[in-house]
Amino acid sequence: MRIVTSVVAMQRQARLWRRRGARVGFVPTMGYLHAGHLSLVREARRRVGRTGKVVVSIYVNPTQFGPKEDLSRYPRDFKRDCQLCRATGVDLIFAPSDAEMYPRRAEGLYSTYVVEEVLGQGMEGASRPTHFRGVTTVVAKLFNIVQPELAVFGAKDWQQAAIVKRMVTDLNFPLRIVVAPTIREPDGLAMSSRNKYLDAAQRAQATILSRAMARARSLLKGRTVTAGTLKAELRRFIVAATLARLDYVEFFEPETLLPAVKVRRGTHMALAVFFGKTRLIDNGSL
Ligand code: AMP
Repeated sequence: MRIVTSVVAMQRQARLWRRRGARVGFVPTMGYLHAGHLSLVREARRRVGRTGKVVVSIYVNPTQFGPKEDLSRYPRDFKRDCQLCRATGVDLIFAPSDAEMYPRRAEGLYSTYVVEEVLGQGMEGASRPTHFRGVTTVVAKLFNIVQPELAVFGAKDWQQAAIVKRMVTDLNFPLRIVVAPTIREPDGLAMSSRNKYLDAAQRAQATILSRAMARARSLLKGRTVTAGTLKAELRRFIVAATLARLDYVEFFEPETLLPAVKVRRGTHMALAVFFGKTRLIDNGSL
């Protein structure tokens, strides 16, 4: 397994693979890898085959963090990430520095951003106003650097995957986006690098996110309910987790992300919940 930190070296490797006709599958991450990330790696491998190449990027992208968010304390363990990638059959880790990705940004000499203007307005975009601009920018840069023919994203970040798909279509990136299912802990909590921030009491209550989705499904029971009614029910349900503070719960069409006024089977639900400073998200089909 190769570890590459320079943009130019990664682009050179990408060109070489292309000339040899190797298929390249790509999994962008911020590191501190868990079984969710590794499931994306396996999906990429499944799709590019044994002779293809699987690239994982490990980069905590500063432009997708708000000024008051957890950039400096975001968990990192590069050595462990390398071991996990090697054991999962990754061919190359791309792990650039900030200076490599955003040269002279602090001096104002980095000034190009990619903005998706519609899908990123609500939910995560409403709670984290500059987040998706950072995501689309870094993902566009990574696509130009790694030059994959497919990239795998997790359904865990549903809105992010929808925005990346839209960006790829709108800007004619020559690659396919694959969305792989959310991997969960045995008690239903969606795996996330941020779960590490939770103390024991918060961790015990963090199942409220997946339980809220189960609750929504059982309230629906095949019927159609207005979004307002269901939201009110879920707010009451989530209050029972005394350490949780609901940021949002939304219902929408899974592909367009358009808000659903009437919620029925197949409507998508997403929610964000704070436990202290830690913000957890989850989503699923009802
Ligand atoms: P992150 O390191 O949080 O930026 O995530 C990198 C990729 O892993 C994104 O495409 C996420 O959606 C995906 N991912 C994160 N957690 C999970 C999970 N529990 N199951 C599946 N994919 C995940």
